[in-house]
Amino acid sequence: MSGIIKKLSSMLQRGEVSASELAASYITRIEKLNPVLNAYVSTTFEEALKCAGEADKMIRAGMATALTGIPMALKDNICSDGHLTTCCSGILSGFRPYYDSAVWEKLSAQGAVLLGKTNMDEFAMGSASETSCYGAPKNPVDVTRVTGGSSGGSAAAVKAGIAAYALGSDTGGSIRQPASFCGTVGFKPTYGTVSRYGLIAYASSLDQIGPLALSVEDAAIVYDAIRGKDGRDQTSLTTPDGATSLETDIKNLRVGVPEEFFGEGVSDEVKSAIEESVRVFERAGAKIKRVKIPAFKVALPVYYIISCAEASSNLGRYDGIRYGYRAENFSDIDDMITKTRTYGFGTEVKRRIMLGTYVLSSGYFDAYYKKACLLRGQIISEFDGVFRECDVLLTPTAPTTAFSLGAKSANSTQTYLADICTVPASIAGLPAVSLPCAVGAGGLPIGLQIISGRLRDGTALAAAAFFEREAGVTAELCAEVKL
Ligand code: GLN
Repeated sequence: MSGIIKKLSSMLQRGEVSASELAASYITRIEKLNPVLNAYVSTTFEEALKCAGEADKMIRAGMATALTGIPMALKDNICSDGHLTTCCSGILSGFRPYYDSAVWEKLSAQGAVLLGKTNMDEFAMGSASETSCYGAPKNPVDVTRVTGGSSGGSAAAVKAGIAAYALGSDTGGSIRQPASFCGTVGFKPTYGTVSRYGLIAYASSLDQIGPLALSVEDAAIVYDAIRGKDGRDQTSLTTPDGATSLETDIKNLRVGVPEEFFGEGVSDEVKSAIEESVRVFERAGAKIKRVKIPAFKVALPVYYIISCAEASSNLGRYDGIRYGYRAENFSDIDDMITKTRTYGFGTEVKRRIMLGTYVLSSGYFDAYYKKACLLRGQIISEFDGVFRECDVLLTPTAPTTAFSLGAKSANSTQTYLADICTVPASIAGLPAVSLPCAVGAGGLPIGLQIISGRLRDGTALAAAAFFEREAGVTAELCAEVKL
């Protein structure tokens, strides 16, 4: 199985390279490539070298895990003590949290080496990372194309080899869709299995942290390191102990293919790449079943109503008093708050706050928010029904390959459609992995999405690992990096 974490880890264990040397080589590569890619928005090199020194001590003391000394990155909405964490928003410019997120707490205890924070859509709202206040990151496969979003910087960093792996957050597809656009693996775990403590909230009932990596095995290693119940996150769940097994009995695997995911807007090359992927499972003896999820057609509006409603509430805390930026030249406190929010937030964030406030307002609550919550229940029960007869579902991750920078930024409805295949699993809180399955026109990667039932994260990952082995389309081989 390919990937980079075990390779680097065994080089570290055998003393072929020290963690400090490894960190230094990643830093050199970042200095060379980041001016082109804009994948990192802030770097923590001094801290990285310090962590690497600690990792070297852990290795010498025989206390290393697979992630000790491995250089990595965090999305700019994941807090780490003393490091800039801005959600790529003007309103959080200069913000340095004074505590660690649960995920970084776990990783740093294992001797992970943090290289910096990665670019993203402002407050994770977008599908191309173009709403970042630092400008969009570029796709390493073709720098005239978007990385996808919102964890675009994390996907670009992993693909370009300037982080061995990275964490992202996924509310409606933000790990999987950039993974698909850049040709990496991206995994959104079951909602609640990874603590959200220290993840700056966008839509709390949907937000989930997960890994972007070069192989399914790498993603599983990182997932195992960050999952687990956390008393500081009320929605956090207990997951089974032990490492996620990537073994699967393919002959007994029931594979569903939901027809709604292949509808209008999904390009022909994507459809045929996914159908070809289904045949890989079929040839190995898996039982293929064509299934239906009729509520698919309401998933996108349900997602945007619920996510905007929650965002309008979560983003109420940015008032110029407690965090980051404060406008100057104000007459009184109301004027200060108004000016701070006017200048601090970007257009897309303001649009969603207004939409969210509208659907929650007393006159429209029943017509929009309440209805969306009811339909969410229907989507969940349709998935439940399908998972009684299937173990996994195979779908496209995104309807197209990466589009050109700027092509859709003026039209938010078009970017919203980029999430059509990823939001259903988010609404239902299900685990879903995206992995490269083919290369389309222009050498651009195509992603296959594998969804499994709630808390069956291992099933989705094992099916993905099977596909990766069998089809031989690994993230390292799929879609050449042209820099
Ligand atoms: N693109 C979706 C949105 O704009 C999903 C974002 C995400 O998953 N954070 O809301």
